[in-house]
Amino acid sequence: MPREIITLACTECGRRNYTTTKDKRKTPGRLEKKKFCRFDRRHTLHREVK
Ligand SMILES: [Zn+2]
Repeated sequence: MPREIITLACTECGRRNYTTTKDKRKTPGRLEKKKFCRFDRRHTLHREVK
């Protein structure tokens, strides 16, 4: 199973707050998730980074 560990970074402050895994075949593009950023103290969009 080609599950890859990826890092999610906040699009507001740029900090890398989360790691998760994804299936490369199901999600070929950049993964985006609404997550709580403890630095912004609110939910922001987090995007996959390399
Ligand atoms: Zn943030």
